[in-house]
Amino acid sequence: MSGVPDYADGRTTAETLFLGGEGSAEAYRTAMRIAEEAVVETIVEGDAPYSGRSPERLRARLADLECLPEEGVGFERAVRGVSDLVLADSVNVSHPACVAHLQCPPLVPSLAAEAMLTATNQSLDSWDQSPAASVLEERFVGRLAELFGYGEDADGVFTGGGTASNFLGLLLARNRHLAEEHGRDARRDGLPPEAADLRILCSTAAHFTAEQAAAHLGLGERAVVEVETDDDYRLSPAALDAALSRLDADGREPFALVGTAGTTDFGSVDPLDALADRAEERGLWFHVDAAYGGALALSDRHRDRLAGIERADSVAVDFHKLFYQPISCGLFLLRDGDDYRHVARNAAYLNPEGDDAAGVPNLVSKSTQTTRRFDALKPLVAFRTLGRRRLAALVEYTLDLADEVAARIAADPDLELATEPALNAVVFRYVPSSAAGDGGRADRINESIRDALLAEGDAVLARTEVGGRTHLKFTLLNPRTTVEDAEGILRRVTALGRDLDAAEVGR
Ligand SMILES: *Cc1c(COP(=O)(O)O)cnc(C)c1O
Repeated sequence: MSGVPDYADGRTTAETLFLGGEGSAEAYRTAMRIAEEAVVETIVEGDAPYSGRSPERLRARLADLECLPEEGVGFERAVRGVSDLVLADSVNVSHPACVAHLQCPPLVPSLAAEAMLTATNQSLDSWDQSPAASVLEERFVGRLAELFGYGEDADGVFTGGGTASNFLGLLLARNRHLAEEHGRDARRDGLPPEAADLRILCSTAAHFTAEQAAAHLGLGERAVVEVETDDDYRLSPAALDAALSRLDADGREPFALVGTAGTTDFGSVDPLDALADRAEERGLWFHVDAAYGGALALSDRHRDRLAGIERADSVAVDFHKLFYQPISCGLFLLRDGDDYRHVARNAAYLNPEGDDAAGVPNLVSKSTQTTRRFDALKPLVAFRTLGRRRLAALVEYTLDLADEVAARIAADPDLELATEPALNAVVFRYVPSSAAGDGGRADRINESIRDALLAEGDAVLARTEVGGRTHLKFTLLNPRTTVEDAEGILRRVTALGRDLDAAEVGR
């Protein structure tokens, strides 16, 4: 191929290894073309969601791939190795039957933006490492704050995802509470002895990162009080009131309430307005984990399901889920940007205090990261390319699809639907013919169905537990997945279930 510098060749120099050098434009184009071809061959032309290889077989296959050879093998061979051994054995998230997790097919415009942002290699931790990128992120965050109903005082930052955003929300909650109620600067002085009584409330269906954050914040996982949900897996305000009364009686000190807009298994959205009322009455920091369901804000049809989110002190949204962005791409929003003072810090080499007064963007103070990718560019390019309505239509299609798939499951006597889908996750299970009295057998069969599908490489389905029982889960993020695709997977689930059932009976 013309213009291909064989980087293993001892004669290649920094000129073609780095952008800007002589011949580097050609080298860059050629390298990108070779990488693009590998993507086209394995992902675009790949006809299965997974190769079916087990961890053992992957280890055996990858054993011969020398990760740090003494002498290079050249670019084409390096890419070929990755293509054959890594891309070919990746789950193909763009395949219509890859329907397991909140792992989205990325939008093509965003993939192109990803290439641009890595080429510029801006770092958002200081303005002089990312001049326009910093200003753009500030502007974009402002627009996104507006999308979620926040006002002018709002602020925020792009993050690596929901885990980081939830942590930041609870970190601010803890620090503000300790500052206002205990006169303690937790940043400087750490936790006071009374911190042992601090409590965070969330529902039993909330994401595990609430507990993880509590552990990291020095409060311990026991600081998280899980409140019962209703039958649709939404936090029950009555149960919340009861939990708050119990905490009062025990002399505990609740300081934060986490509402979930889109639980990971069921997509259920907590009654955010009712939760905001309780948070206001009790002076709790109200954080909404909208990592999954945040995309509802795009939709004229579904936006009202997020009503109350604009009253939250902070919000977590993942663009690398239902907004179809390449990983990683998350957002943290803060209703009152002044609250950032509880975590702010200045470093002489990045953002000396004088710069703040001069109006220089200071994003490192708003993040738990230092060096940080310009991930904002991906949704920016996608949003500008498509506009809100087209993006909303993609999301709306998948919500409608989930309803149809759920209806098919409900109508099938071999299958049982766990609950009506709230977003696009559909949880169900195969019901063995003679399951009566032996839940363990049904669990084994459902587990084996999921394993068999993965090993066949026909469908990548998730498994989860509902009420202690193993279930299967579709997460229908892909706008290219059709009802027929889902029906095909369901037929395979039922056929496998019957075979496994018969084998179990014969045991
Ligand atoms: C995915 C998810 C998270 C974790 O977010 P990451 O982006 O994986 O860090 C947190 N909460 C909910 C509800 C999620 O769906």
